[in-house]
Amino acid sequence: MALSTPSLSLPPFRNEPFLDFTDAAVKRAMQEALVTVRGELGREYDLVLGGKRLRTSAKIASVNPARPAQVVGVHQHAEAEHAEPALQAALAAFPAWSRTPVEDRVQLLLRVAGLIRERKFTLCAWLTFEVGKNWAEADADVGECIDFLEFYAREALRLSHVTTPIQLPGERNLLRYVPLGAGAVIPPWNFPFAIMAGMTAAAIVTGNTVVLKPSPDAPTIAAHFFSLLEEAGLPDGVVNFCPGAGPGFGSAVVAHPQTRFIAFTGSKKVGLEIYESAAKTQPGQHFLKRTILEMGGKDAIVVDANCDLQAAVEGVVASAFGFNGQKCSACSRVIVDEAIHDAFVDELAERVGSLPQGDPAENFYAGPVISPAAYQRVLDYIELGKSEARLLTGGDPVHNEGGFYIAPTVFVDVPPSARIAQEEIFGPVLAVLRSRTLDEALAIANSTEYGLTGAIYSKSPEVLERARNEFHVGNLYLNRKCTGAMVGAHPFGGFNMSGTDSKAGGPDYLLLFTQAKSIAEKVAHPSKEADEEEVRMGL
Ligand code: NAD
Repeated sequence: MALSTPSLSLPPFRNEPFLDFTDAAVKRAMQEALVTVRGELGREYDLVLGGKRLRTSAKIASVNPARPAQVVGVHQHAEAEHAEPALQAALAAFPAWSRTPVEDRVQLLLRVAGLIRERKFTLCAWLTFEVGKNWAEADADVGECIDFLEFYAREALRLSHVTTPIQLPGERNLLRYVPLGAGAVIPPWNFPFAIMAGMTAAAIVTGNTVVLKPSPDAPTIAAHFFSLLEEAGLPDGVVNFCPGAGPGFGSAVVAHPQTRFIAFTGSKKVGLEIYESAAKTQPGQHFLKRTILEMGGKDAIVVDANCDLQAAVEGVVASAFGFNGQKCSACSRVIVDEAIHDAFVDELAERVGSLPQGDPAENFYAGPVISPAAYQRVLDYIELGKSEARLLTGGDPVHNEGGFYIAPTVFVDVPPSARIAQEEIFGPVLAVLRSRTLDEALAIANSTEYGLTGAIYSKSPEVLERARNEFHVGNLYLNRKCTGAMVGAHPFGGFNMSGTDSKAGGPDYLLLFTQAKSIAEKVAHPSKEADEEEVRMGL
């Protein structure tokens, strides 16, 4: 059914189709975009507060993880002292923006989605250079960004029509979802377009204003999004663009007494710091801060003895090594029934050992990890893994143009309590664990502090039903990979230490950026029953 308001009628939501890079024209368009963007690398971008463009003495240089000598963008470095003017800019824009008709806010999101569609190849190329996504991964990020904009546009319209489930006789009963205020949006580097834009879009379409602090590993793609917002006509101050590195600016914005909400996606460690800081009320603070925190995972795929083994191997490889394991949803543990364990492992070793690795600009399947810090962290986990389990394949750095490459790595005979089976590594490292029964497999799957995604491969309806009931994750997949959530179909968010289960891309998400106001109006000619009810209740 098409949504319609007196002034706005939208066709139903559809996911943005993926690009087909096997098509010669599509491939050529991507290659041309890479050439164009290569010519624009190294530009300097401003910090923007209330429409005013600022430069700081300290800078953030974003580099290409495949060729660290190549600077992708130079950015201003917001420090703690910028938190006050950033918040004031967002607060100043709030009264007018919160009263802007929802249809206008929706139209703005749709204009931005249209601009992104027009410039899809260029935006994919920026993602390839800035975070090392191959073409399909970059396209998935850009497509998801479009989906968030289109989906939240429709959701905002839907919410504007919601009313109370009951109309009392003698009253007009209304329920309105009103914005919260000025808040912080703090995204991670790994879906630096979709998640960054999705959280920002959800906040502004519901009438809030935002201090946007992109990841220091991916500020350039965020700067391009910000300029699309400006091009689409976003009023000054509704989004304030403030790149910052380290905890300085981010912590100061979170702690500010006038920050009404914090939408964060990132690691457990930082998410917990934000949770604690936001819970501590500050002098002059007049509300409880809302925190929307989506954090890490230690996602498992269970492989039942009775399954399509080939499909299971393919699903595990794609989930574990797509974008080099740098997805919160990435499979980092595979729990295999002992009856098929050895056959599965043989097949897995062959597939992983032959994954092509190289520069994502040339569209290799496996690329670099994001940064020197990530490179060192992953190599440290690999060393640890050698003492906790048996290395099956990979395990070494790969030298190529100084890029942060690590060979796709698999450990077998991993005990469930090993640190490589419990802690998020966030790189191309997979732990294979053995199970004797389904009970044991599910117990292992549920044995970490996280609960983000999970999958099971089985031909047995009973086994799948047990997984539906007992596999404790926010996003469960049956007979398919555990990555690649689609907006609208797979509302996304995790349990336990994976976060607040916000379900991005789902029908509950925008509620998190609003508060509900109930309005009851006595009407001119109340019915007899309503009067009687009022007397009875003593109201
Ligand atoms: P991170 O926690 O290091 O950084 C996330 C953001 O927080 C960045 O913008 C960073 O600059 C900022 N930040 C750092 N310290 C801060 C502080 N003290 N106060 C305020 N902000 C601060 O995470 P990352 O490395 O960018 O991203 C990877 C992590 O994100 C992984 O753990 C991954 O699982 C998780 N992630 C989760 C989801 C999800 O939906 N659950 C999606 C993507 C990524």
